[in-house]
Amino acid sequence: PQSAPGIDQLTQQFNDVNLYGSAQQSYPPVGANPNMGMGMGMNMGANPNMQLSSHAAAVLPMNQLYTTDLLNDFPPPIKDLSLPPPPVILPNDATLSQRPESNASPDYFRCTLNTIPTTNSLLKRSKLPLGVVIRPYTTLHESENPVPVVKDTVIARCRRCRAYINPFVQFVQSDRRWRCNLCALQNDVPSAFDNMENGRTRYDREELNYAVVDFVAPSQYMVRSPEPLVYVFIIEVSVIAVKNGMLATVARTILESLDRIPNDKGLTRVAFLAVDSALHYFKIPESTKSSNPEKDDDNDDDDDEDEDDDINSQPQMLVVSDLDEPFLPCPDGLLVRLDQCRSQIETLLANLNDMFHDNLNPNFALGPALKAAHKLVQPIGGRIQVLGCSLPSLGVGKLNVREEESVSGKPKEAQTLMSAADSFYKSFAVECNKSQVTVDMFLCSTSYQDVATLANLPRYTAGQTHFYPAWSAAKEEDVIKLSKEFSNHLSMDVALEAVMRVRGSNGIRMASFYGNFFNRSSDLCSFPSFPRDQGYLIEMSLEDNITKPYICLQAAVLHTTVGGQRRIRVLNLAIPTTTNIADVFASADQLAIANFYAQKAVEKVFSNSFQDARDLLMKHMLEILQVYKKECVSRNVGSSSPLQLSTNLRMLPLLLHSMIKHIAFRTGKVPSDHRAAALNFLGSAPLPKLIKNIYPSIYSLHNMEDECGLVDENTETIIMPNSVNATAVTLERFGLYLIDNACELFLWVGGEAVPQLIQDVFGIEDISNIPVGKCELPVLNDSPFNQRIRNIIQSIRDDHSVITWQSLYVVKGPSPSEPIARSREVAALRMWASSEFVEDKQSTISYREFLGSFREKISN
Ligand SMILES: [Zn+2]
Repeated sequence: PQSAPGIDQLTQQFNDVNLYGSAQQSYPPVGANPNMGMGMGMNMGANPNMQLSSHAAAVLPMNQLYTTDLLNDFPPPIKDLSLPPPPVILPNDATLSQRPESNASPDYFRCTLNTIPTTNSLLKRSKLPLGVVIRPYTTLHESENPVPVVKDTVIARCRRCRAYINPFVQFVQSDRRWRCNLCALQNDVPSAFDNMENGRTRYDREELNYAVVDFVAPSQYMVRSPEPLVYVFIIEVSVIAVKNGMLATVARTILESLDRIPNDKGLTRVAFLAVDSALHYFKIPESTKSSNPEKDDDNDDDDDEDEDDDINSQPQMLVVSDLDEPFLPCPDGLLVRLDQCRSQIETLLANLNDMFHDNLNPNFALGPALKAAHKLVQPIGGRIQVLGCSLPSLGVGKLNVREEESVSGKPKEAQTLMSAADSFYKSFAVECNKSQVTVDMFLCSTSYQDVATLANLPRYTAGQTHFYPAWSAAKEEDVIKLSKEFSNHLSMDVALEAVMRVRGSNGIRMASFYGNFFNRSSDLCSFPSFPRDQGYLIEMSLEDNITKPYICLQAAVLHTTVGGQRRIRVLNLAIPTTTNIADVFASADQLAIANFYAQKAVEKVFSNSFQDARDLLMKHMLEILQVYKKECVSRNVGSSSPLQLSTNLRMLPLLLHSMIKHIAFRTGKVPSDHRAAALNFLGSAPLPKLIKNIYPSIYSLHNMEDECGLVDENTETIIMPNSVNATAVTLERFGLYLIDNACELFLWVGGEAVPQLIQDVFGIEDISNIPVGKCELPVLNDSPFNQRIRNIIQSIRDDHSVITWQSLYVVKGPSPSEPIARSREVAALRMWASSEFVEDKQSTISYREFLGSFREKISN
């Protein structure tokens, strides 16, 4: 009785209703009454039952359970991957304002289960994981997606649980008090709530209307006065960095990005440290022309006025060769204000490459440089930016090439190659956290760089590791990628001195924390600086039975803006509860669950092995399918032994199957730096990027509708073609496809593509002459098709939620007529791109075989 006839029909119907209140499509099976789940799921509808819901969970309408036979529903309907989760359905009176924005959008805050079991035993019985995915910021720049701000510095918090007042509290006792929605304590309403300016009432307050708000914090929220944004650049200047062009590229990128570095108040400071086997500091004098009487206000140096002006007007290089106890060669002038020293900084960056042009020193004393940079910023805190292209070879933190060949693809691989080779990087991370220092790594390796070890420093200081394998400035595309990403990174509106805490209703405990930060105490996550391009996951446990019809979660990020304002970003999410396992399944969020298991599998690699990580994914999938069969499928459907799962979870097996084949977990030999970078990505990427990296979007271009690649006049965005399943089996051999895995783009040219198609895309007729590999499409002004494809590529690259700039690789598909002695590069590239066809067999099993193996296990 629980199978859903006509899902496609329903999809259409519900899409027309536009349940989710946005341009996005809604998930189809939300229940029989289309009024349910309006907006973000608050009941605005006319169903009289809903009015009664504040007392009994039982009368709350729930998302309906629909069942899919996974093997029958084949190929998997991948459009589901772009749908929002099953809506959160709350009672009418759950919030003060009843506006849809009262509950957090899944873009910011989403739970693996949009209906939560009331007891731990029910949760355990369901075998579904309970966790929240948190993404406090969805864009790199505040201006792109600003949230409402509470500006009057009146912050009402619960006296007992310290929750911030929010749309889910209730006013009681003649509105004199508010009842905390997390712990039920009654608190006094601040008098300021009823003495507002411009005729506003307490009900107009942003924090009572919006689930995601920023509070401007009063001074008691500051441990110390706001510190300026600080960047210390540690730049490798060894012969390797000179030869592969990293030094020149980085210096130019910083030079061209000086205006992009946040510096509203002119307080931002920078320092530069050039590193080979010695530390090269730069004493940077102030620009004489910008000197003004007010400059005494800051604590910069002013005491070198008696020195010669000529010497002073240029940056001065000071070399320290003592790596054991690196000291600062002069007390000041090393960490300088960007605006005060602008022209000298420009001079330095313009000359930096030339200064080391003839350098033959092959070493990179990264550890001593990190200690020196730390010493420099310790009183203030800041962001250390490491730009390196070789293995740290001198001083503390020196690393050696680890022997890969004998362990790659073997049981000991994770322990031998993914562990930190030197404890310095973890212990130094603790030091950095104490002094509010974040470390970011941009690793432009020409050979092994031990990403696994180095990534520990960003991981525990809320930074990020960016890996550019085989990078060389000789390739224009490499220069573009590094400079665009590094520049985007520098332009990001980071927050400083941040801590995040997540609170839940009574009975809910925050159990485990995943993401790049330092876990300072049991539930406090510390971020010396808070980036805008990462996601976080917290596993929750149920400690007590829940008696309320819905529970609330609240995440709060206390931080300092780059403009020097102390703020708190608060995110609120309420979720209904149930005693019924079918309701739990019907509201489960498959993308959040995939994110959950990705984090668990990453953790498993570090604690055990790659095999254990893959086994973990298989085990959980099997258990969920078993429970579903036992608990949610009421009738045994005869001998055909279907493999069933709720329709809202029908992409979960596909995602977990793809994850097993991901470069982070797959069997076989993978260079360990690539492994480590992939694990790092899955452990920190925001959910949409993580999902796309696991299961790529593949667009069919040769047969796309006429409007695809053109601007939609309503949304002013490029209209994208339909996605197709990630399998080479259904690819046309004469077709043209674009593969987007969130990190790279592949333009797959079918080996039998007709000359006209090749002409329209590349401007030449002969497929054997098209460029293959990392390159850009030519601009063909007389080919509208070429223009449309470039628009689509541009539109994917224009994502402002991450710093990534996706390189394009042109790949030629196989063809019977191709010469046998095709180049090694063509073959390797094709193999790489083919690994994106995650539904195919590849070296393990196809998705259909994967499902078949589960059907066998379950029917036994
Ligand atoms: Zn409370």
